[in-house]
Amino acid sequence: FTDFKIANEPVLSYTNGSKERKDLEAALAEYSNNCVEVPIVIGGKEYKTDRVVYQPMPHNHQKKVAKFYYATPELVNLSIKTSVEAQKQWDNVPFDQKFSMWLKAADLMAGVYRQKLNATTMLGQAKTVIQAEIDAAAELIDFMRFNAYFAKEVLKYQPISETPKVFKNFLKYRGLEGFVAAVSPFNFTAIGGNLAYTPALMGNSVLWKPSDTALLSNYTIFQIMNEVGVPPGVVNFVPADGPVFGDAITASPHLAGINFTGSVPTFARLWGQVGSKLSTYKNFPRLVGECGGKNFHFVHPSADVQSVIMATIRSAYEFCGQKCSACSRMYVPQSLWSQVKEGIAENIKKLKIGPVEDFSVFTSAVIDDKAFKRISGYIDHAKANLSIVQGGDYDSSVGYYVQPTFVESKNPLDKIMTEEIFGPVLSAYVYPDGEVDKTMKLLDSSTSYSLTGAVFATDEAFLTKAQDVLKYSAGNFYINDRSTGSVVGQQPFGGARLSGTNDKAGGPNYVLKWSSPLTVKETY
Ligand code: GLU
Repeated sequence: FTDFKIANEPVLSYTNGSKERKDLEAALAEYSNNCVEVPIVIGGKEYKTDRVVYQPMPHNHQKKVAKFYYATPELVNLSIKTSVEAQKQWDNVPFDQKFSMWLKAADLMAGVYRQKLNATTMLGQAKTVIQAEIDAAAELIDFMRFNAYFAKEVLKYQPISETPKVFKNFLKYRGLEGFVAAVSPFNFTAIGGNLAYTPALMGNSVLWKPSDTALLSNYTIFQIMNEVGVPPGVVNFVPADGPVFGDAITASPHLAGINFTGSVPTFARLWGQVGSKLSTYKNFPRLVGECGGKNFHFVHPSADVQSVIMATIRSAYEFCGQKCSACSRMYVPQSLWSQVKEGIAENIKKLKIGPVEDFSVFTSAVIDDKAFKRISGYIDHAKANLSIVQGGDYDSSVGYYVQPTFVESKNPLDKIMTEEIFGPVLSAYVYPDGEVDKTMKLLDSSTSYSLTGAVFATDEAFLTKAQDVLKYSAGNFYINDRSTGSVVGQQPFGGARLSGTNDKAGGPNYVLKWSSPLTVKETY
């Protein structure tokens, strides 16, 4: 991939008086007091059912941003039928047309719809302005543009080989026969766009089940893609109860793939259902999953302490720790502990937490009551059994607010060091300076996850060794930088072990996952 250069979408600044700030404030005003009704959309037709669901604002849960409906099993089946039909025509639409649609969508997302995407993400998913801009603007736009170019690049090498006047060999990239189910999470609006529309780009039809807590921002993407000409039925917007949806898609012989981001138990359940029905499918369904992590920062005695402190605060607490890649465990040598401890504690004490409408907050609320209970449960556990260095408060009276919390765990295998929390809680284990190797092995073996991780050191020999010892401990490995912040086209994202199938969203291989190539040999 050397002969195209596309730039990542720049993140705008939203300084007082800027155009983007005014536009965003207008969009926020529009969606703040207006609960939008979102239909189920199958084959371009809108449906409602009697299973009414609301999407509340996490930072002010009395207010609702969307009212929507869960699809019944019959409607999921109707969308399967519609998708399977739509796929046949869609796959025959020349790639250049799809490519133009995707680029046009990216331009609309970067332009007229930017603030709608940001506002619905801020209010619906409690993201601050900068968090929304990084996600619902920059990353979403990057997914659209980069995937379009990655696909174009792959498709253009035709014939792949030839003997002039004797034969030519082609690889024709077909969509998967049947339908793909995209099951997307709340924490990134952009991930919803990628999970549903990258398979579509490659000639697939999709049943998109968005997260209940990202409904409105995801519906906005769906509307934009319809506007640029993605035909009805190619992507169907099917909010549904998770198990109802899972049961219906895995029962269909036409299931061709599942594109999933979410929890290990949900992905495992879908995988189990597919496995138990394998003989009923027309094709082996492709399962692509990204399932979370227990991401580490490992600090070597030679590390630069200031960069450890800043990188760790950003990784653990930005986005309320609700990034799959957020650091939630760190290993600090005894010799640096007092500086690291004080540096993190003093800085996070000053972080401003509040409603997303206040542009000066560092973070806002966590997503919902379930998350709030889970995270506060870990904090209670830390209060009872470990030591809280800083933070530890939580309050759900107005919104689901959790204070950035820093814990010291003397036990490196305590559940706070090994289980995914998905909230603003970081725990540290202090190791003797002489036990670097032993602690790296401990880090590697203490969880089943392997998503992201970072090592901090100035000692070159250690850095070389760490890359070997920790080779399978992460799918995205950072040296002297935080474990978060992967950028489309620059750091393709995904983890191995129980963190997922490691198909690297935002990288060139990902598009091929959604294709079933046909080899054609033409003889003369
Ligand atoms: N790509 C994001 C990052 O590296 C994380 C995506 C996720 O949370 O799933 O920060």
